[in-house]
Amino acid sequence: MDFSWTSEQSALREEAASVAADAVARFGRSNDSWINGYSKEFSKELGAHGWIGMTWPDNPYSGPARPGLDRLIVGEEMIKAGAPIAASWFADRQMGPALLAYGTPDQQDAFLPAIVAGETTWCIGMSEPNAGSDLASLKTSAERQGDEFVINGQKIWTSFGAVADYCYLICRTSSDGPPHAGISEVIVPMDTPGIEVRPIKDMTTNRHFSEVFFTDVRVPVANLVGQEGAAFKQTMRQLEHERGGIDRLVSNFALYRMALERADTSDPVVRQEIAALEIAYRIGRILVVREVLKQAPAGFSAATKCFCTEHEIRVAEFVARVFGPEATLWDDLTRGLVYAPGYTIMGGTSNVMRNILGERVLGLPR
Ligand SMILES: Cc1cc2nc3c(=O)[nH]c(=O)nc-3n(C[C@H](O)[C@H](O)[C@H](O)COP(=O)(O)OP(=O)(O)OC[C@H]3O[C@@H](n4cnc5c(N)ncnc54)[C@H](O)[C@@H]3O)c2cc1C
Repeated sequence: MDFSWTSEQSALREEAASVAADAVARFGRSNDSWINGYSKEFSKELGAHGWIGMTWPDNPYSGPARPGLDRLIVGEEMIKAGAPIAASWFADRQMGPALLAYGTPDQQDAFLPAIVAGETTWCIGMSEPNAGSDLASLKTSAERQGDEFVINGQKIWTSFGAVADYCYLICRTSSDGPPHAGISEVIVPMDTPGIEVRPIKDMTTNRHFSEVFFTDVRVPVANLVGQEGAAFKQTMRQLEHERGGIDRLVSNFALYRMALERADTSDPVVRQEIAALEIAYRIGRILVVREVLKQAPAGFSAATKCFCTEHEIRVAEFVARVFGPEATLWDDLTRGLVYAPGYTIMGGTSNVMRNILGERVLGLPR
């Protein structure tokens, strides 16, 4: 078996690295740039390169599906460099595949061309103040009135809530039956009357996420994606897409590179720490590649996410040790370090990932 990259893949990596470096020079660098690096302009450039929707199944909007490894290569180069890919990342990773799988032809025509061109930003309205890990307990309701849904409730931690064009809203269209029944997915344009967005300042002083309040927000029933009241499985499938990607492994790689330049490699303990992190980067990458090639068992992306994001926390701890008190100066480095605890929370916490691995993948008793 030949594990080396093909010449086409190497050329793509080189091109992506050069585009990423240019973007960082023009727009600045971010840690975890798929969440913190927001540039609509660069998003359109990604679209022009054909790097949005590149691995979606064959369709008239993004064209024939490219191999999963191509997206891994482009994503890895962007995120490692800290290039601002956030404006299109959610739509590329989740909304596009969801609309292709469950959307109507009208919805696909209406939304996919702008996503592929990098023109629209989507946020995901899933978490609520009392429904994070336990998503099935969500309360935001969409009540059918004629040919409209009337939406009431509150979402929280909504990344890009303040800048998004559309919210992919997970809401309750019925309260009958068990909690996971009655959940639906509805597209909500963020300029619809009745939406109030209150940005939340995180520990890094960024305001990338928000509380989003819905008061009698009216959207056409035609904005329902998939089956009414039966979306829980759809949502779980999207989370599968969300968890096993390269974005979970290399989001603070730039900090690691800074620490490597500074680290005292004459110290055997430091050398061992570096060796352990290098090994973990390689294991994490194998796990991600298995996801990308669809060789991992169903549900295993929970384990991939858990391993990779816990590695990202260890990277941050190593960086803090290397820089010592300097890491507390309020700069890019400090922001990267105080942001790091979020890696094992967003997209599902490590505890919840372990539950999924134990119960769904290994079939252990609850
Ligand atoms: C940077 C960032 C961006 C985010 N972006 C978005 C977004 O765009 N859209 C969105 O909808 N949400 C977003 N989130 C929210 C995220 O999905 C939730 O924070 C996460 O799912 C955890 O939910 P919670 O905060 O309510 O914590 P809780 O569910 O209240 O968990 C609290 C603690 O209890 C533990 N716990 C809970 N249930 C169990 C269990 N069954 N077994 C063992 N332990 C358990 C958890 O591990 C955790 O330690 C974001 C979060 C972060 C940090």
